[in-house]
Amino acid sequence: MSDGGFPGFTMGGSTAPDMPPLGKPPAPPHAKAGDDHPVSDPIPLTTRPDPLAGPVIGPTGRPMPFIPEPGPVSERGGARVISMCNQKGGVGKTTTTINLGAALAEYGRKVLLVDFDPQGSLSVGLGLNPHEIDLTIYNLLMERDVTIDDVIVPSGVLGMDLLPSNIDLAAAEVQLVHEVAREQTLQRVLAPALERYDVILIDCQPSLGLLTVNALTASDGVLVPLECEYFALRGVALLKTTIDKVRERLNPKLEIDGVLGTMFDGRTLHSREVMDRLVQAWGDKVFHTVIRRTVKFSDSTVAGEPITTYASTSGGAESYRQLAREVLERCGE
Ligand code: ADP
Ligand code: MG
Repeated sequence: MSDGGFPGFTMGGSTAPDMPPLGKPPAPPHAKAGDDHPVSDPIPLTTRPDPLAGPVIGPTGRPMPFIPEPGPVSERGGARVISMCNQKGGVGKTTTTINLGAALAEYGRKVLLVDFDPQGSLSVGLGLNPHEIDLTIYNLLMERDVTIDDVIVPSGVLGMDLLPSNIDLAAAEVQLVHEVAREQTLQRVLAPALERYDVILIDCQPSLGLLTVNALTASDGVLVPLECEYFALRGVALLKTTIDKVRERLNPKLEIDGVLGTMFDGRTLHSREVMDRLVQAWGDKVFHTVIRRTVKFSDSTVAGEPITTYASTSGGAESYRQLAREVLERCGE
């Protein structure tokens, strides 16, 4: 530990184990009968409720509201910054960042995605090879002569850009400890982007360490993806405490924008029970939209594109469009 790092860990990340190269993406699926499992059907939000038919109960056990298609952006810029945050891995943070971002871009919003996980899954999920990325968010955080424009790359989706990351970012977590205003570093480097985007989504790493505190400090809102599975509820109290501490000490404007149930399986009583518990604990913060479990998400990751373009008419794509409408309505963007 003489250099202040971890044993067997080089600051630049140059000895980091290689990630396997991206495989050749499979051909996009051409809809076959029975291809998309019914559990991934979206729950329509756009149909105006029929007053005679009574309320439609959604998967969260509450009546489904009518959320209209968002109009065009009233005013460009003044981006709302939203962190996808949960210290548990594999709950759908990265999947939600990519697909919510792509859905918002479809609705005409100018979107910036920030890969703030040293795993770089967001960058890989958008088809980037981590070894070929020249400058990453690490350089932007640590080097004063690197500007945000040097690092931003197009995401492959019209209207959506990306600040990529790779394993180098793991070193930032260690190096930032010695910086002045270490919790505000991301906020400082993102400031020039606020006027050029409508929404900035930050994909956090699965921990509540300094990188995540930086993300929360730079954000207006937090979106918490939670897997619809019993153990998902453990650790949520700690996450809430962390959000409260950041709000009290660093960022008074920080709000919880919503809690999103992911990997929902409407056929199981278990998923529905977990949903009930979520609504008991978080009330109206729980999005009416839930994301069902479907293999299409893994397939689209391998293809390196969002599900909204990879399988544009699938249930998963429709669900993320629905989530985008809910987010825009809640946040008034
Ligand atoms: P996190 O960023 O929280 O670690 P990911 O978004 O990377 O989670 O998701 C973990 C894995 O689960 C990925 O392989 C992803 O493709 C898959 N996945 C995400 N959402 C779903 C879903 N709704 N249904 C099925 N698989 C999913
Ligand atoms: Mg992730």
